[in-house]
Amino acid sequence: MPSMNITMNEPQISNKDTLPPVKAVGLISGGLDSILAARIVKDLGFDVYGVYFAMPWGCCDKTKAIEAAMSIGIKFIVLQLDERYLEIIRNPKHGYGSAINPCVDCRIHMFSRAAQYMRHIGGAFVFTGEVLGQRPMSQLRKSLVRIEQGAGLEGRLLRPLCAQLLEPTILEKEGVIDRSKLLRLSGRSRKEQFTLAQTFHLTAYNQPAGGCLLTDVNFSRRMKDTLEHGYRNFRETVALKWGRHFRISKEFKTILGRDEEENESLIRYAHIDDYIMQLPDQAGPTLLLKGHHPPEDALGVSAGLIQRFSRYKNEAPQNMVYWQVRNKEDRRSVTALSLTDQQLKDMSL
Ligand code: SF4
Repeated sequence: MPSMNITMNEPQISNKDTLPPVKAVGLISGGLDSILAARIVKDLGFDVYGVYFAMPWGCCDKTKAIEAAMSIGIKFIVLQLDERYLEIIRNPKHGYGSAINPCVDCRIHMFSRAAQYMRHIGGAFVFTGEVLGQRPMSQLRKSLVRIEQGAGLEGRLLRPLCAQLLEPTILEKEGVIDRSKLLRLSGRSRKEQFTLAQTFHLTAYNQPAGGCLLTDVNFSRRMKDTLEHGYRNFRETVALKWGRHFRISKEFKTILGRDEEENESLIRYAHIDDYIMQLPDQAGPTLLLKGHHPPEDALGVSAGLIQRFSRYKNEAPQNMVYWQVRNKEDRRSVTALSLTDQQLKDMSL
């Protein structure tokens, strides 16, 4: 078992007694590994700025991450991913993992932004909770090196949980960081992390469940479709995690809410050029239609989809009301086309 040199209440190695503590920027997902890494770096006497990357499709619970950061007394900053990140998903230099997850490029992007932030606040290094060999794509030794170089952090990217298994950073070489206080964890087992969590009395952290939606095959299919057919802004991709999605043609796509909450979310996140469609009594799914100037057949198919997922499923074609988000007063009506199971299957994303 790898040695774990961490004990609580050990005297902190300090960066020179009278000077303000050296600043370090850590990537904080709120998961156990990132919190352990932050706690170790903090106990070494550094002023820790935790950076959390907000991913609109959900990955790690932000509230839990804030709680975890507060529980160990570090600063917490949220950085939002944006269109640059979508371009990385579209065309990752280092390829995909099991689905549409571009893990190496994703990390390079996040670490580069953390590095920018480090320079902005006058910090000395960036750290993460990565463990050598824990993940197949991004935590192999060669990937760790590639990510460090890609992010422009050569010698300034510390992985406290497995540092003793890696090349020393500049800060370790210069004696600013005491390498003997760092760990040598590797592999997929989390046993030692849980032992450390107990030692540190850490209870507030994100559980590993859920994870990144980019690794989910269904979500990946929708994301791929969006990237292929175009999007107008990052916010638009938020709706990929809700509802039933159908591509009705190259130009038009619909999303139907599956419950009240999704119906409201679809309206809230709609683009100003999108169309909203509902049953006149709103007793069914709200539908979002994406695409410019939809012709009658696209509107009819959209209406048919609403009917299919409403209580009118087996009844005569119903009329639906629709409007463009930018012009809510101009309400129009369209009659549902009936759709076969095969059509539904072919359109489903
Ligand atoms: S799992 Fe998702 S968030 Fe994590 S590195 Fe891969 S793409 Fe990025």
